[in-house]
Amino acid sequence: WGRLTEGMKRTSSSLSDRVTGLFTKRKLDATTLEDLEDALIQADFGLETATRISDAVGKGRYEKGISPDAVRAILATEVEQALEPVAVPLRVEAGKKPFVILMVGVNGAGKTTTIGKLALKLTAEGRSVMLAAGDTFRAAAVEQLKVWGERTGTPVVTRPPGADAAGLAFDALQEAKRQGSDVLLIDTAGRLQNKTGLMAELEKIVRVLAKLDPEAPHATLLVLDATVGQNALSQVELFSQAAPVSGLVMTKLDGTARGGILVALAAKFGLPVHFIGVGEGVEDLEPFAARDFARAIVG
Ligand code: GDP
Repeated sequence: WGRLTEGMKRTSSSLSDRVTGLFTKRKLDATTLEDLEDALIQADFGLETATRISDAVGKGRYEKGISPDAVRAILATEVEQALEPVAVPLRVEAGKKPFVILMVGVNGAGKTTTIGKLALKLTAEGRSVMLAAGDTFRAAAVEQLKVWGERTGTPVVTRPPGADAAGLAFDALQEAKRQGSDVLLIDTAGRLQNKTGLMAELEKIVRVLAKLDPEAPHATLLVLDATVGQNALSQVELFSQAAPVSGLVMTKLDGTARGGILVALAAKFGLPVHFIGVGEGVEDLEPFAARDFARAIVG
């Protein structure tokens, strides 16, 4: 969480500075509250949440005014309450063997890196893990996954560039069953330039996995880059159309001023947030915790 706190200073310092500026020696009136609402919208909280928080700050306090610290406290409480219901750990069920996790998201979101980080976490917990290099379109993605496999001592199932991704996913699940792996992590393509092709490919992967295990994939994690701001909302909508997105991983929270997007996502979709990425290193993946995040966001 040290890295998160560091990174979130960008969200919190801009937000904190605005709060200090707004609520120091200024009358608490409708304009001040509107300015607060604007600051929250700029930090990607979304209109609904921004309005709720500024209403909470204004409530019954017009006469007495309010200190910046008190505003920050209200903000932290609101953020924590909004995120508590979605701070759900990823449960890898031992009875489902292998537990199949499909990783989806646009190119550059941090999918492959997150798979590497997850592989390390799961193996450290004593689970055997297999990786499937399902982004068969990009040779670099396959190579990158192989590197993560070596780093974490995890076998990687690959196919030559251009091979059918669903075929690879099918073979990988068969192989994971044969080897008795506990978890199979499947990487997928994320080229948004060809949305229809991408969606068809994901649907096919889901369909063929179910042939081997009707409940697979047991989890479908959408990896979102925190720095894309409001775009994250449309990515959830898009990927949910093609795959049964069951949870989120938010990456790059170490370097953004837009941490409020998690609150906007929670308000709109209520999807569990399992992990957050707080750096490029293999250890930089943290289970999501609402209180720590809320504290980090207000600085
Ligand atoms: P993919 O295309 O979705 O598989 O994305 P990659 O895993 O290749 O990641 C794209 C870039 O983002 C790489 O340079 C990663 O090192 C970087 N990255 C991934 N996660 C994080 C994170 O949590 N924080 C930071 N700062 N960089 C990250």
